[in-house]
Amino acid sequence: MTSTAAARAEIVVDLAAIRHNVSRLRELVGPDVAMMTVVKADGYGHGMVEVARAARQAGSEWLGVATLDEAMALREAGDPGRVLCWLAVPGEEYAAAVAAGIDLTAYTVAELDEIAESGGERARVQLKVDTGLTRGGAARADWPAVFAHAAELEQAGRLDITGIWSHFAASDEPEHPANDAQEAAFREAVALAEELGMRPELRHLANSAATILRPSARFNLVRCGIASYGLDPAPGRTPDLGLVPAMTVRASLAMSKQIAIGDGVSYGHTWIADRDTTVGVVPAGYGEGVPRAAGNLASVWVDDRRRAIRGRVCMDQFVIDLDGDLPPPGTDVVLFGPGDRGEPTAQEWAEALDTINYEIVTRVGGRLARRHVNREDS
Ligand SMILES: *Cc1c(COP(=O)(O)O)cnc(C)c1O
Repeated sequence: MTSTAAARAEIVVDLAAIRHNVSRLRELVGPDVAMMTVVKADGYGHGMVEVARAARQAGSEWLGVATLDEAMALREAGDPGRVLCWLAVPGEEYAAAVAAGIDLTAYTVAELDEIAESGGERARVQLKVDTGLTRGGAARADWPAVFAHAAELEQAGRLDITGIWSHFAASDEPEHPANDAQEAAFREAVALAEELGMRPELRHLANSAATILRPSARFNLVRCGIASYGLDPAPGRTPDLGLVPAMTVRASLAMSKQIAIGDGVSYGHTWIADRDTTVGVVPAGYGEGVPRAAGNLASVWVDDRRRAIRGRVCMDQFVIDLDGDLPPPGTDVVLFGPGDRGEPTAQEWAEALDTINYEIVTRVGGRLARRHVNREDS
């Protein structure tokens, strides 16, 4: 990309960290379980195509995306491997996706028909069953009808049922009773599909948290998103796997200056200086996906110290407390990173803002440039 280390504000993504994380997860599940790296939502904000390439290099047999546009963008970028897509609405361009060899997901008889009638080659279709998340997927009462229809279309040579899968509601809470119930329901769904004559090659249920915390749910493929990016899917519950956060968000300080006790800072003066101090202007705001809610809550890293955000985060900028220091404009400001030098992490931002690390990394973007690097040591 065009940015340099002096960019106003940018996302720096360490692809060596992604490869390292995917390899660690691969080692954890062993050779009999296929690895799907989930790269939806622009690779959780890390850049879908670059992450996909790194995941393939680290041995991911599969990539997972939500939308057909994402799946087609992977093909346009030259990825020839297995890709599963799981969220469609009526009227999707199935024909192009089928021709491109994308595995589609069907929840209903109507979707199976729409895919089968899209023309051209035999579609690869995976059946998604709702085992208790109560989001997408065939409702339990509809399994017999959906499965029977899928088996019929497969026997008629109209499509291939390549997988059957489901998704957990609470895999980040391993003691939650929904996990056992969902795994049991999933086993019933697999048995029913087999009774109806289907032999789907893939059976999968686990996202990152379940992959790590619930080996019984790995079946023969796992779908790892957040852990591939080096973030903890179940903070406080995950054993240390040596995963490395791949994303750093940094900016160049726009200015620093003296302020006096009693001065109100940023819109609405929600912070009033409680002493004479110095402040810095960071040129990134909610237009870059820095949450406005971070005002007076999160902190950043400048000159080897944590610096508190003071007052509201604006559209283009926010203000930090420099505690008497006056670093020159251009000084490096790290909003969050892997944490190995002491800087805040996406996990810390998530805790400060009462959200999850997924949202922190996925929402940053806007005007931020994204730069991909390969750090030697990760
Ligand atoms: C996003 C997603 C995943 C990945 O979840 P992580 O918790 O990030 O590992 C897996 N499966 C489905 C269906 C998803 O939507």
